[in-house]
Amino acid sequence: MSATAVDSSYLNQLGEARYDWTVAEVRALFALPFADLMHHAQRVHRQHFNPNEVQVSTLLSIKTGACPEDCAYCPQSVRYDTGLEREELMEVERVIDSARLAKSKGATRFCMGAAYRSPKAKQLAAISEMVRGVRALGMETCATLGMLTPEQAHELKDAGLDYYNHNLDSSESFYGKVITTRTYQDRLDTLQAVRDAGINVCCGGILGMGESELDRAQLLHTLATLPKHPESVPTNQLVQVAGTPLNGVAPLDPFEFVRTIAVARLLMPHSHVRLSAGRTEMSDEMQALCFLAGANSIFYGEKLLTTENPEADHDQQLFARLGITPEAPSLCAELSDHEHHQHATDVEHVAHHV
Ligand code: SF4
Repeated sequence: MSATAVDSSYLNQLGEARYDWTVAEVRALFALPFADLMHHAQRVHRQHFNPNEVQVSTLLSIKTGACPEDCAYCPQSVRYDTGLEREELMEVERVIDSARLAKSKGATRFCMGAAYRSPKAKQLAAISEMVRGVRALGMETCATLGMLTPEQAHELKDAGLDYYNHNLDSSESFYGKVITTRTYQDRLDTLQAVRDAGINVCCGGILGMGESELDRAQLLHTLATLPKHPESVPTNQLVQVAGTPLNGVAPLDPFEFVRTIAVARLLMPHSHVRLSAGRTEMSDEMQALCFLAGANSIFYGEKLLTTENPEADHDQQLFARLGITPEAPSLCAELSDHEHHQHATDVEHVAHHV
């Protein structure tokens, strides 16, 4: 579809939050010449954000591997032999110690990810304790734990959870090629439960799983037509892991990834668009293009919690080269964002339940 296939007058109105996007309009944005798309995205980005600030979060896997779900990209699924070392749910104090260390290194938001289909009551009670402890440090809190019932979402809200990450992963039509153990509607239901409980929503997807441009447009269309836009929109690039079904899939054209960031920025102008999994496989130049396209949030990985953290150092150098500073925290945030999930070894994979 070309950009001229729909009335293009809406291009002049970009920047306002809309919830009535059509798929044709979204596809028309994807079809814009790259320079035009980047121009619009940067213009809209500057209407709502400081273009030289990027929000930085830290995440910790509090329970790793042995997940019963079959997400085809995920090394944490018990169904795939990826050599991932399993870890039971961490002790509450250990998690709080990690958060304290992350805070001492400058992190303002702490995300806890657990590889569950959905948490059991006892697990949720322990995680609620973690949330209370991390919040008592003066940090924003985020969790990604799989599906939640409305009651579970309220329990987490009562504990002080600021953000919940739960991704849609892809378009509804492509979704079934990636995950069979839970439905798209299950995910939408969890998002609704989180929203209804008053927790900020972090929801995005994974690109490069073999989906089409139409799938990417439909994913963004679904996100942008939710009753309220997610506060945070993690945009992941598939990290291929040997042993998972998606290992070996043809990689996505990097410009398509950047285009998707730009279109997300235009469709959800007030949301933080997060560059998430796959970032360490991107060149500095591509990351800079993503920031230009409107990405304004990243993760520092778990290695931030170790004494040696070359990844974090590299990010700091990249920020310095680009004149970017970390966004100041909106502590006790009702307004900021957050997310995630992950892969035990290297930040990346996120997705789903991230
Ligand atoms: S993405 Fe989440 S739900 Fe899916 S297999 Fe991995 S840990 Fe489980």
